[in-house]
Amino acid sequence: MKRIVLLGSTGSIGQSTLKVVADLPDRLQLVGLAAGGGNLDELARQTREYRPAAACVFDRSKLPALREKVGNATRLLAGEEGLVELAMLPEADIVLIAIVGTAGLRPALAAIEAGKDLAVASKEILVMAGEAVTSAAKRQGVRILPVDSEHNAIWQCLDGKPRHEVRNLWLTASGGPFRKKPQAEFAKITLQEALQHPTWSMGNKITLDSATLMNKGLEMIEARWLFDIEMARVRVVVHPQSIVHSFVEFVDGSLLAQLCEPNMRLPIQYALTYPERLANTLPAADFMKMSRLEFEMPDHDRFPALGLARAAGERGGTAPAVFNAANEVAVARFVKGEIRFPDIWGIVEHVLAKHRVVEHADLGQILEADRWARAASAAWKG
Ligand code: NDP
Ligand code: MG
Repeated sequence: MKRIVLLGSTGSIGQSTLKVVADLPDRLQLVGLAAGGGNLDELARQTREYRPAAACVFDRSKLPALREKVGNATRLLAGEEGLVELAMLPEADIVLIAIVGTAGLRPALAAIEAGKDLAVASKEILVMAGEAVTSAAKRQGVRILPVDSEHNAIWQCLDGKPRHEVRNLWLTASGGPFRKKPQAEFAKITLQEALQHPTWSMGNKITLDSATLMNKGLEMIEARWLFDIEMARVRVVVHPQSIVHSFVEFVDGSLLAQLCEPNMRLPIQYALTYPERLANTLPAADFMKMSRLEFEMPDHDRFPALGLARAAGERGGTAPAVFNAANEVAVARFVKGEIRFPDIWGIVEHVLAKHRVVEHADLGQILEADRWARAASAAWKG
């Protein structure tokens, strides 16, 4: 039995995780749940249903309302300290971080210090603090298990093979809803259009990041840290069907891929039950749905996000944290209607160019760079 703390339980990954747990009740148990407080009814419902050892709401002002909804049977926590306490829960074996944004960083580091394995959906924390997180995990002897579908696929294909046997890691990208849109029309893209993902159903932030290809940029840096490989060997290929979740190209020319229909339940399950593969209720592969698999190279002129991510990842230090924070603010400004779609990468490029990188940054310096980038991105006027 694996005992799981799930941070971000009300979101898209959180809900898929609950389905995985419901599917394997003899093997997986939820011992902690946390969410932001934006969907308090759902957090309360989950707490009543799963009876975890503790539950946490990030927004402290919602704690009394949560108490009222769940009664006194469950220990309730709040705020960042609550997330950290949950991440260190003695009852837990593994902590799954599925919080959108960077609020998962401190809980992730706390979980590692407490000797818990970490399943990471929140790529932001590896982009921001990949060096700190992976070196802490190495020191503590805990695993970092990738939930992001591409990285989960690469992990399955690598199967423990050493870095020197790898020529390239190929992340697949759907290309998003604007794969074929002429550049001249980018400035008119609306929020509604950008939220139409062709293959995946996900939270709004990652859906918008898929439309700009910033998501793939974040994933390039995520891969660099998860697999301890330099940026030059992390490549991207567009694959509109999202059936091949990624490739590993080995030095002998062999290409291994992991395929399945786009459903996050599989990578979540693999991370939670590793090293075992367990039978589940997911539908079997349908070859008719896979009869057409297409690949093309990304268009860097129309989608500058990949180049910006590569530059930030190669620069290292605080640059990836700035890349991530600037993108987050830019996306929020696009959602509010303050900026146009191409301004998202305009802001990221501008703020990255202004940033003075700190090498081998510690947590304080990373958080400082994050704050600075947020302020600079909010101030951008075009
Ligand atoms: P959603 O927006 O659907 O859900 C976000 C979750 O985070 C909600 O449960 C929300 O709670 C919670 N949350 C937000 N802020 C806080 C906070 N400060 N403290 C605690 N909980 C908080 O996002 P997704 O599930 O789509 O994505 C989650 C992460 O997983 C992201 O990092 C994303 O990049 C990554 N990911 C997602 C994939 C997907 O298929 N969705 C695929 C691969 C990676 P509430 O709303 O109740 O306040
Ligand atoms: Mg992904």
